[in-house]
Amino acid sequence: MTRIELFALLIYIVFLAFFPFSFVAFKKEKDVSGIENSTPSTEVVASTVTPRNEVFEILDDKYLVSALYYSDNFIEKIRESKTTLNFQSRIVLNLSSSVTDKLRDKYIDGLMSLFPKEKDVNKSNLVSPLDRYRVGKEETFHDDAIDLFTLEGHSVKSMSYGVVVLSERGWLPGKPDKTVSNNGGNQVIIFSPNKKSFYRYCHLGGVAVETGDIVEAGKIIGTVGHSGLIASQYGHGEHLHLEINQYKKNSVVYLSQKEILKLLRGIRKK
Ligand SMILES: [Zn+2]
Repeated sequence: MTRIELFALLIYIVFLAFFPFSFVAFKKEKDVSGIENSTPSTEVVASTVTPRNEVFEILDDKYLVSALYYSDNFIEKIRESKTTLNFQSRIVLNLSSSVTDKLRDKYIDGLMSLFPKEKDVNKSNLVSPLDRYRVGKEETFHDDAIDLFTLEGHSVKSMSYGVVVLSERGWLPGKPDKTVSNNGGNQVIIFSPNKKSFYRYCHLGGVAVETGDIVEAGKIIGTVGHSGLIASQYGHGEHLHLEINQYKKNSVVYLSQKEILKLLRGIRKK
């Protein structure tokens, strides 16, 4: 065998040795791109998707989370003011009309399943959302919420133990599509297993929690700000807008301002 023949044989062996691998590599690349473009095989799904509680499919949709949050009364209110609605409210309204009792039950059950079984969820351990605030004469403004006045930058704490179902920090003046609620601005909604209650904190500056976080009562969730259409205007802001809605069988009922005030005063006495 000449040197040239030996060299050719070597090249041939190297080719034979690597060709199958290069073929596999090519095939793999094709499989990966197939995930985006076509229906992936079950094998690929199993290795790329981490199993998550079903409720996260709902939590991924901020508009649906809002539609599931608002009280029946509020939904009725926005339905009546149909002509003056901004497009976010229209989306929420449309979604709310397709929210069935079954979906809401599934959502609430899913949220309840996120909490450890051994935790006594019926034990209410409420914490004041602000260290200092005053309830001014503006308190007559809302029926289904309360405005707690304080300086901007103050820490806002979660009133209760619960799971963060909505966390938004992108509000920008003149860009109503950045948050689900143009009026609420940067907001956090926390679901508490105690009495199946939702706590909504609006007009925040900074937001310190993410959707899906389980928080203890007293956990800092953000700071008082002036985000939101009206709160951002001169002479507004400097307050925390707080709402508490409760899930009752097949409906969501808001706590009146008087009821929220009573809760807050109960905490102060402790
Ligand atoms: Zn308010």
